Amino acid sequence: MAEADSEDMWFSFVRDAPATATVYQTIRARLQNLASIRDLVRKTKNGDQPLISTVEEVISHGLFVVKQTQFPQLQLDPATPSEDLLLAAQEARIWLLKMITCQSYLGRGHFIRLFRSILESETQKWSDLQHLYYALTEDEVGEATQRLRAAFAICLQGNFANKYAMDLARTEQFVFLESLPHSSQTTPAIIAARQKVALKAIDATVDTFACAVSLQDVIKQATSKEEQVCPICRESYLDFSTNKVEDLIADYPVRIKFCGHVIGKACLEEWMDTPLKDPARYPYKTCPMCRTQISGMDPPDLPEHFMHRLEHSRFVKRVRETTGLQVKECMDGVKRLMNEEVAAMELEMELEMLNEEGALARDVAKEAEEVLKTTSTDLKGEREVWMIPDIVWMRARNEWMDEGAEE
Ligand SMILES: [Zn+2]
Ligand SMILES: [Zn+2]
Repeated sequence: MAEADSEDMWFSFVRDAPATATVYQTIRARLQNLASIRDLVRKTKNGDQPLISTVEEVISHGLFVVKQTQFPQLQLDPATPSEDLLLAAQEARIWLLKMITCQSYLGRGHFIRLFRSILESETQKWSDLQHLYYALTEDEVGEATQRLRAAFAICLQGNFANKYAMDLARTEQFVFLESLPHSSQTTPAIIAARQKVALKAIDATVDTFACAVSLQDVIKQATSKEEQVCPICRESYLDFSTNKVEDLIADYPVRIKFCGHVIGKACLEEWMDTPLKDPARYPYKTCPMCRTQISGMDPPDLPEHFMHRLEHSRFVKRVRETTGLQVKECMDGVKRLMNEEVAAMELEMELEMLNEEGALARDVAKEAEEVLKTTSTDLKGEREVWMIPDIVWMRARNEWMDEGAEE
């Protein structure tokens, strides 16, 4: 099922047509050549040896032809590669390696159809991907290393890294979800939790540098009710009667680690997404309260002991072996999950206290309780996916919440 999705994405141009025996023989040879490319990528992936040659090398082999139309912004002079060109080359290299890694999860059938379409259509009508896979598997180009070099030149010339960035991201996500460990105890709930965890790892934004704070701290530090509101939208962090509980969760107060300012998370996310007004003068995103630089800064890591634990977790190990996802990205997903856990937990406690005081209408309290209960159950399921003992997780979460600048 999922395989079909991915097939639509990449091979929509492929039509089933009867193939001759000669065509099949050629296809078999190409499949073998493709396997040798994968071996090469797998073996050298973590090595220091650069897998694909430099721009200079590609140029000296006559493989690089400048196509200004693909790079209207770039200064392209292959004789003296500019910074821009070197950067484009770096992006093309990463794109190609990730692409080859991802595509090895597509079945043999995909490639049989792809190669058939290459062999049975005219060169001028080939799509970018057909060109790429022709180069990767064509004997006349040479050994695996040379074929990889030619493919690199094609990716760079065609600006594939930009043109197909989204397609690669979608494929990576698909591979990530597909490659999660399966066992006989895998239930639909576990699969759903894994998918959420995967999306969070790719999608974490302000969670990487802002951590959830305790509501009691917000209340204690506030000198008036006015200070218990998000400084951007002016909505209360803890007023269940005027805000929906979903909104309280979304705009839960987080502390920016670089300066200590506390802001509702939804508002901070929106602020970070808003394009810079005057990028020439102020090229960075800053804290909306104090203008401390945020974007371009290295966000603090989760504690070392936790990082170590995570690196050796069975789940993370599997994910890393099978996809391009880095420990760093897993960390981001964990940070986001921790923020959401704290938000749900703290709001639950606040609700309980308000209930005891009789400060809330019955139906309001009941509805909020139900939403928080479901949220907590979902988050618990997601935490289990990481396969980290509760005590280790909680210790790391407390350290993460405490660390960084105080307001
Ligand atoms: Zn807000
Ligand atoms: Zn600030």
